[in-house]
Amino acid sequence: MKWLITLTTGAAFLVLTLWCTPSVMAADNETYVVDVDNGSSLLIREEPSSNGKVIGKLRDGDLVTVFDEAYGWVKTYYGNQVGWVASQYLFPEQQDRNFLHTQKQTAMNKKQNASRLSNQKKSSTAGKNEQKKSQTVKPLSGYTIILDAGHGGKDPGAIGIDGTYEKDLTLHTAANVAENLEASGANIILTRDKDSYISLENRIKISNRHNTDAFISLHYNSFPLPTASGISTYYYTDGEDLDLAENIQAAISNHVDLKNNGTRQADYRVLKKNSDLSVLIELGYVSNPLELGKIQSQSYQDRVAAGISEGIQRYFIR
Ligand SMILES: [Zn+2]
Repeated sequence: MKWLITLTTGAAFLVLTLWCTPSVMAADNETYVVDVDNGSSLLIREEPSSNGKVIGKLRDGDLVTVFDEAYGWVKTYYGNQVGWVASQYLFPEQQDRNFLHTQKQTAMNKKQNASRLSNQKKSSTAGKNEQKKSQTVKPLSGYTIILDAGHGGKDPGAIGIDGTYEKDLTLHTAANVAENLEASGANIILTRDKDSYISLENRIKISNRHNTDAFISLHYNSFPLPTASGISTYYYTDGEDLDLAENIQAAISNHVDLKNNGTRQADYRVLKKNSDLSVLIELGYVSNPLELGKIQSQSYQDRVAAGISEGIQRYFIR
């Protein structure tokens, strides 16, 4: 039918327009640093595709001048040739220099530092308050929190009884939690801020490459029995991870009326392979009609954000 064809063409045009719009506009001639594991290399290809012919290699720490960006690839010059490299291995020069000059800390060192930092912060806060009573120091100033909206893109996650995708709920929750934590002074990094597919490896890489104080993965649950319900927070290692999980689980449960399923140990990849302090929160069952209704309300989202923020503050500032 004609109207259908017109509609389809219109939709295809819209999709093409959206797809062709680069998600990040690289400013003119920005310099980036290659960050790959020692010994491995980043391939330069003729085209912005993993099928493009390889024309060269870059090593960890190499500098790349970027002229253009498309589909997650950046355009650079290699000799007198145009080449493309995958953007996920490139970091702004300034930021990366700081990173490279910071010795990679072991997970335990980092956790000890986090608690030392919080003590320093307490005393410096007290000092500042005496000097300048009018100046408020926000409780999470200086802390970098990674918020990881579960799933995304081709991976919808759990599918709710009304067809809602977990990936959309987690994205909304991450934005809401980010706003709340930022108001408390935290520096927030999102593993994704749109409906895009990010592999678990890349989520961990994002955590590892920043000076991350805590990595918080956000999810919703699903189960064949519609009566399954409640919230739980997962951790991998006993000790600090468990401690953070308990603080967050308790604080969320204070704010929302969903069943408290407590903390649970699990070897989820984003936790197990993560050298930073990390937890994964399951914020209710999309397979439970009653619970899904609550989850979709803004009031629930606000309460969850308040709970997570409170739990993180209780963990760090003690
Ligand atoms: Zn999930």
